Amino acid sequence: MTNTNEPDCIFCRISRQEASAEYVYEDETVFVIKDRFPRAPVHLLVIPRKHIARIDALSSGDNGLIVHLFEVVRLVAATYHLEAGYRVIINSGADGGQTVSHLHVHIIAGKCLGFREDAAP
Ligand code: 5GP
Ligand code: ZN
Repeated sequence: MTNTNEPDCIFCRISRQEASAEYVYEDETVFVIKDRFPRAPVHLLVIPRKHIARIDALSSGDNGLIVHLFEVVRLVAATYHLEAGYRVIINSGADGGQTVSHLHVHIIAGKCLGFREDAAP
């Protein structure tokens, strides 16, 4: 377990098992939980254990982690039988709708998703 070290970050706290969550998948570097306030029948969060505040805070040293993050997206989508499709969202910064400052990927599925601004979480 690496760099899950922001004391007050909720996703770091979940990774350190100081806060509870409903786990769907976990490994050394990435974990997946159900969103606490789901916006659709399937609403999962794919989260690197490393505290990276947002996309802009990524460095080239994180390239392998990002590839793995999307491997886990594919794995979870297959596990949940999301062959009909799903939406992946990364909010970045306040104007991007980011409310938790620890990079995470939303997987949203289970209803027909139109391409509408208000369809995003
Ligand atoms: P953001 O708005 O930053 O893109 O997404 C943050 C997401 O985290 C929101 O969808 C919110 O419902 C979810 N969330 C916030 N706090 C918790 C928590 O303590 N547990 C879980 N499982 N999800 C959370
Ligand atoms: Zn964090």
